[in-house]
Amino acid sequence: MVADHTENLFRRPRFDVSHRPFIIIWEVTRACDLACVHCRAEAIRWRNPSELTTDEGKQLLDQAAAIGPPAPLFVLTGGDPMKRPDLRELIEYGAARGLPVALSPSATPLLTAGTLEELRGCGLKALSLSLDGDSVRMHDSFRGVDGVFERTMELWAAARACGLKVQVNTTVVRQNVAALPAIARMALERNVMTWVLFFMVPTGRASALSPLDADECEDVMNFLYDVAGTVRVKTTEGHHFRRVVIQRAILERRGLSADAVLRLGPLYQRLSQALEPWPRKATIHVRRSPMDINAGRGFVFISHIGEVHPSGFLPLAAGNVRKNPLLEIYRQSPLFVRMRDNRALGGRCGPCEFTTVCGGSRSRALAIAGDPLAEDPLCAYQPGSFPYPEDVARVLEQR
Ligand code: SF4
Repeated sequence: MVADHTENLFRRPRFDVSHRPFIIIWEVTRACDLACVHCRAEAIRWRNPSELTTDEGKQLLDQAAAIGPPAPLFVLTGGDPMKRPDLRELIEYGAARGLPVALSPSATPLLTAGTLEELRGCGLKALSLSLDGDSVRMHDSFRGVDGVFERTMELWAAARACGLKVQVNTTVVRQNVAALPAIARMALERNVMTWVLFFMVPTGRASALSPLDADECEDVMNFLYDVAGTVRVKTTEGHHFRRVVIQRAILERRGLSADAVLRLGPLYQRLSQALEPWPRKATIHVRRSPMDINAGRGFVFISHIGEVHPSGFLPLAAGNVRKNPLLEIYRQSPLFVRMRDNRALGGRCGPCEFTTVCGGSRSRALAIAGDPLAEDPLCAYQPGSFPYPEDVARVLEQR
């Protein structure tokens, strides 16, 4: 009997995402000692004197804590958050107010096994580390500094040893796509909490990298679906992974080959071959569509100077927490309201039957078409072309 993977396919927030976010990301600084080729923040070594102060940061944490329960996930990112001398104080403050606080640091000498233990003691729950290659050569060339791969591996082990949950982030571009099977294996062997694939948006220094084209992206997402039975996978700025999960689950239920129905390309074949042997039978995670959130819909980003964006990759600000409360901006600003309105989407994303669970990358639409409501050019799907619309409708009804 074929397993029905279309049941309970969605993780839904237990609240109205137009009313409150599921995740809040605060860029505590843009300062960083690395020089990553794909840096969204175009980070430099020195802190901006206009960054939110410790007191302003605490006010932001108070506002986030007042949203719950359930408390939103609060992520401190950068730049490199370790550049802020008040980082421990901020983590302690957020944790004491019941916020699950996570940290997205850079792998520099500022972060050691001892520091991680200390941060854990302050109440830090989870850590995300970047891994853009399976070798010293590949990863360090992305990071622009020697020794980062080794340090990342050491920090990964140290974080696990002190009980932190570890998420690994990989930015997918043409230069590193062949390394994905090896990185998947590292994630499996080191028991990663979640492997998050960032589908590059040409903003900041990332504009200099080679993005995948839409067909290659389709191949990578189908490869990720295969991985996701064993390692928990999420995508950032790759919202149509949710469409791929639904399509693949429907085809599995019908006992049909994805290769044939979806006409997967040579990149999928290469990645799949390189993944073997992969422990498909030891399924530890039910394949579920990642949480249905998108720019401004469950997600909010606050910049180092307090500007509020629907996504860290979307350089349009809806207000500033120095002037208005975060929730007021999130609920009422015309930009956030527009981002949540799928009926306003243009191109293929507007009429697409998957738009309510996908909606495409608004950041990529802005970066490439100059319009945040345009279609996502990294998606190859032609709306209405999946041959089992009644199955799609049934799955979407579960929402
Ligand atoms: S066309 Fe747009 S809404 Fe439809 S799957 Fe692609 S990105 Fe998502």
